[in-house]
Amino acid sequence: MSDQFNDDNNHDNYDGQDGEKSFSENDHTDTSTTANAGRSDDSEYEDVCFVCRRPESKAGRMFKLPNNICVCDECMHKTMDAVSQFDYQGMLNNPNLQQELDQFSKQNGFPNISFVNLADLQGDGGIPNKQKLKKKKKKEGQEPVLDIRNIPAPHKIKASLDEYVVGQEHAKKVISVAVYNHYKRVATNSMDSIEIEKSNMLMIGPTGCGKTYLVKTLARLLDVPLAIADATSLTEAGYIGDDIESVVSKLLAAADNDVEKAERGIVFIDEIDKIAKKKETHSRDVSGESVQQGMLKLLEGAEVEVPVGANSKNAMVPLATINTRNILFICGGAFPDLEDVIKERLRKSASIGFGSELKDKYDKDKNILSKVTVEDIRKFGMIPEFIGRLPIIYTLEGLTKEMMVKILKEPKNAILKQYQKLLELDEVKLQFTEDALEAIAEKAMERDTGARALRSIIEEFMLDIMYEIPKDDNIGTVTITKEYIEGTGGPIIDIRSNLINETPMEALDYSV
Ligand code: ADP
Repeated sequence: MSDQFNDDNNHDNYDGQDGEKSFSENDHTDTSTTANAGRSDDSEYEDVCFVCRRPESKAGRMFKLPNNICVCDECMHKTMDAVSQFDYQGMLNNPNLQQELDQFSKQNGFPNISFVNLADLQGDGGIPNKQKLKKKKKKEGQEPVLDIRNIPAPHKIKASLDEYVVGQEHAKKVISVAVYNHYKRVATNSMDSIEIEKSNMLMIGPTGCGKTYLVKTLARLLDVPLAIADATSLTEAGYIGDDIESVVSKLLAAADNDVEKAERGIVFIDEIDKIAKKKETHSRDVSGESVQQGMLKLLEGAEVEVPVGANSKNAMVPLATINTRNILFICGGAFPDLEDVIKERLRKSASIGFGSELKDKYDKDKNILSKVTVEDIRKFGMIPEFIGRLPIIYTLEGLTKEMMVKILKEPKNAILKQYQKLLELDEVKLQFTEDALEAIAEKAMERDTGARALRSIIEEFMLDIMYEIPKDDNIGTVTITKEYIEGTGGPIIDIRSNLINETPMEALDYSV
C-alpha cells in the first residue's frame, strides 16, 4: 500500500476507494501547517519516520503529528490496526488496573494522566539534521552537477594542479586524463553497447610526497565531495573496526547528506598497502585479504545501504541507498617493501646471460618504484581481483631537495606565503634568503617524512619570531638567514625607515 502512495497516479484511486481522510498533497500540507505551526515545510532535509526510521524517499508520504513528529503511512496503518484490535473495555474493567490508575492519579494530584509527553520528543522526532537525507531536488530546471561541456580538458586540469602541487609531473598527467575520462563517462551516461570502464586508480609513492594533497586539490578544483578513509581501520563486516561501507558513509557526509552529489564524488583510501594479504597466517585475515574481497563490489559499482550521520548501522539510524557506479575510487599507499620485490625481479632478469649486471645496481636507484608492474603488486599481497579493479596504476617520486625548496615558496598557498601573510597583518615584511631555504630543505630531507617535515621545522624556528615581533611596533622587515636556521646566528631585523628619524636609536631594543 505504501507503494501506492509513492505513485501519484495510484494515489488518487486510493482516495476514491477508501473514502477515508484523503492524503492528497494539499491536505497533507494543510495538516502539517496547522499541526506544526512554525515549522518550515520546504526544509532541505527529508522527514524521517518516527517509528521505522526510514526517510521520506523510501517510506513514502508522511503523516505530520504535533511536535515535528512524522510517521510513515505504513507505520500509521499498523498502529491504527493495533489500536482497533485493542480491548480497552477489558482493560478498564480489570479491577486491579483500575485501582493502580486511581492510586497513581491521587499521588500526582491530577486525574488526567498523560502517559506520553509529546513535548519531550523534541525537534523532528529527536533526529538531528546530521542524520537526515537532503531532499532530492525537482528534476526540471536543475543544473547537472557536472556538465560534460564544463569538464575542463586534461591539460587545464593539470595546469590548475600545477599551481598547487610541485613536481610529480607524471602523476598529475595521469590523474588529469583519468579524471577527465571518468567524468565524461558519468556525464554522458548513455553507454548502450560500449560500456566505458571506471577509471579507479592506485597511487604508489613514499610518505609525504603529496598523494593525499594531490587528491584533495583535485576534488577542490572539480567541486566534488571527497572522503578520505584510512584502510588500516577497515575490517570485514562483523568484526571490530570500521565496515568497508563506512567509506561511502563518509562520502555522504562530505556531500552534506545529498545522495546525488555523493554518487559523483571521490573516495580516497589511504594506506592501502596495509590491507595486503598477511603472509603465513593461520587465522582468518579479517583486516587484510577479507577487506580487499569486501571492497571489490564497491570499486566496481554496487548499491550499498549506508547509515546516515553515523558510522555503524543500528536501529536508530536512518539508511540511504547509494550507487557506487560513478564514484571514483583512488587508493594510495607507500608500499614500503615493494622496492625489494621489484629489485628481486629486476635482478633475476638481469643476471641471466650476456647482459648480466652488477647485483647492487638497483640498490642506488632512487626511482625504483616507477618500474613497478602488476605482478610485483600481486606478490606484495594484493589479490588479482582487487588490482584488476584499479586499472590505472602510477607512482609518485620521492621529493628532492630542489622540490622541497619549491614547495616552500611556490605553490599558491605555500607555507612561506602563509607566514608572510600573517606578519603582513602586523605590517612586518618577512623574507628568507635562498640559502636559508636550502638549509630548511636539507633538515627536512634528514627526517625522511617528505614535505610534512617542512612545516614542523618552520614552526619550530618561527615560534620565537612570532612571539617577539608583535612586541615592537617599529620592526619593518625580518630576514631569516641560513645561520638562524642552523642555530649559529640570528635573523636580520630592520626597523621601519620612516621611524629612524623620529625615534632615537638608543631607545630601541631589537634583540630577538
Ligand atoms: P602523503 O603522500 O603521505 O599522502 P601528503 O599528501 O599528506 O602526503 O603531504 C603532506 C603535506 O606536504 C601536504 O599537505 C602538502 O602541503 C605538502 N606536500 C607534499 N607533497 C607536495 C607537493 N608535491 N607539492 C606541494 N606540496 C606538497
